[in-house]
Amino acid sequence: MRCEICGKTLAGRPLRTKIDGSIMLTCQECSKFGKVQREPPKPKRPRTAPRTVRPLEPVNEVLEDYNIVVREAREKRGWSREDLAAKIYEKVSVINRVEAGKMAPDLKLARKLERILKVRLLERLEDERLEDLGPKNIRGATIGDIARIKKN
Ligand SMILES: [Zn+2]
Repeated sequence: MRCEICGKTLAGRPLRTKIDGSIMLTCQECSKFGKVQREPPKPKRPRTAPRTVRPLEPVNEVLEDYNIVVREAREKRGWSREDLAAKIYEKVSVINRVEAGKMAPDLKLARKLERILKVRLLERLEDERLEDLGPKNIRGATIGDIARIKKN
């Protein structure tokens, strides 16, 4: 940061000095040429600046009706719960709990179920968020964020 009047490098915060009606950032000495303003310069950044954007981590969320998806896909194949459990190397009790809606499968289990049942259990939230980045919502994200999402 340099003084806008004399060009001297400023060690600390520049003084906002009103000289001939315009605000200059000056050193202590040059502030004598005008009237020092008390208010510190407000950052021009809008509220949706990149700094305030939450990191867009790729999130996989299990569908709300995972139990129905699993049961229907399994029944369509004519598999018993035991069959399904054996195919994905899980206990039948796990399948029971999943189909009863008492236990949402974790990521690993959900992926196994997806693969074996050819269903979709996980919502790829980052895909949807990318679609949300239309012209209306683009302000909240930086180009860097968008590039990052596309890579995932
Ligand atoms: Zn100066």
